[in-house]
Amino acid sequence: MIKFNVPPYTGDEITYIEEAVKKRKICGDGDFTKLCNGWIEKTAGAQKALLTTSCTHALEMAAILSDVGPGDEVIMPSYTFVSTADAFVVRGARIVFVDIRPDTMNINEKLIEKAITRNTRVIVPVHYAGVGCEMDEICEIAQAYHLKVVEDAAQGIMSAYKGRMLGAIGDFGCYSFHETKNYSMGEGGAILIKDKKDNELAEIIREKGTDRSKFFRGEIDKYTWVEAGSSYLPSELNAAYLWAQLRIAEKINDERIRNWNQYYEELEKLGKSGKIELPFIPEHCAHNGHMFYIKAQNIQERTELIQYLKKKEILTVFHYIPLHSAPAGKRYGSFHGEDCFTTRESERLLRLPMYFGLKKEQITYITDCIKEFYA
Ligand SMILES: *Cc1c(COP(=O)(O)O)cnc(C)c1O
Repeated sequence: MIKFNVPPYTGDEITYIEEAVKKRKICGDGDFTKLCNGWIEKTAGAQKALLTTSCTHALEMAAILSDVGPGDEVIMPSYTFVSTADAFVVRGARIVFVDIRPDTMNINEKLIEKAITRNTRVIVPVHYAGVGCEMDEICEIAQAYHLKVVEDAAQGIMSAYKGRMLGAIGDFGCYSFHETKNYSMGEGGAILIKDKKDNELAEIIREKGTDRSKFFRGEIDKYTWVEAGSSYLPSELNAAYLWAQLRIAEKINDERIRNWNQYYEELEKLGKSGKIELPFIPEHCAHNGHMFYIKAQNIQERTELIQYLKKKEILTVFHYIPLHSAPAGKRYGSFHGEDCFTTRESERLLRLPMYFGLKKEQITYITDCIKEFYA
């Protein structure tokens, strides 16, 4: 059976975890966390990066730092993971869903301005499949209306938009290191912060509302409770696991892109014939091979294809059920304007196996089976 996802593993994880254990320093913010934070800052060109317990929690931190509260509105696509919305809903905000572009499955930047009201506080672009949203337009709108931009870059690490790394473009950026992502620590994430002014509060929120980070740096001689906060810092054991992967991030990224390109080349003819649709990468976007998807004609055909490939021992999966159609989505948000593409395109999309370690021959076998199905 060819699995849909195999969590990344380099072989060095256990060595680093052992190191952390031997140092008797396994709570948060030890050496491995610092290495990971530094790596993200350097690679993404971020002013500040902090590992968190998940991308969901990074988004929650971004919601707190954006001062989102009851009555506020947050604009995002409906075609996204629940966490994008949850992080703001727990602050009491209402979600305003905007339609996506059918070509990239990202929020349609042209529809954002019409969805803005007096209560809007934040725009959340979600970089689907690690392909950048139109950040120039989005940031321009945000500036004009004094809104914050929180990038859900859960899938976007190592990807770029016009030469700038995803996650480091908006006011805050959020990465995920869940085991389904390009680099993993089991459960984990990171928040990237643009403005230095937000660093101190971010550290406080992440450390239970205390100024403990300052204390550890020797800047104060005792720490105290200064704000409302939570516990968003991960254990050193998880950071040690992640460090093994970040160290060879370039190699993992290259391999994923090679896989992605192979899929594309082997399916190009079928795409040109109009039987399926292949992903679109805008000229100015550099992606990270996070995902390879195809689009069938409709949901029936997609269901048949999933079944067909399953019989061939290949596991493929569809993705998000639009949030505005979910019970909580109806309670906490509403769709602005017409749903032209969100539902329709989500019903056609099928994700093919993609992971670090997927073999060339396996990809050829998968694309051969897809061609067979359409023959
Ligand atoms: C995976 C994912 C998340 C959640 O990440 P966690 O680290 O599991 O909290 C949020 N948004 C998107 C778009 C994702 O793909």
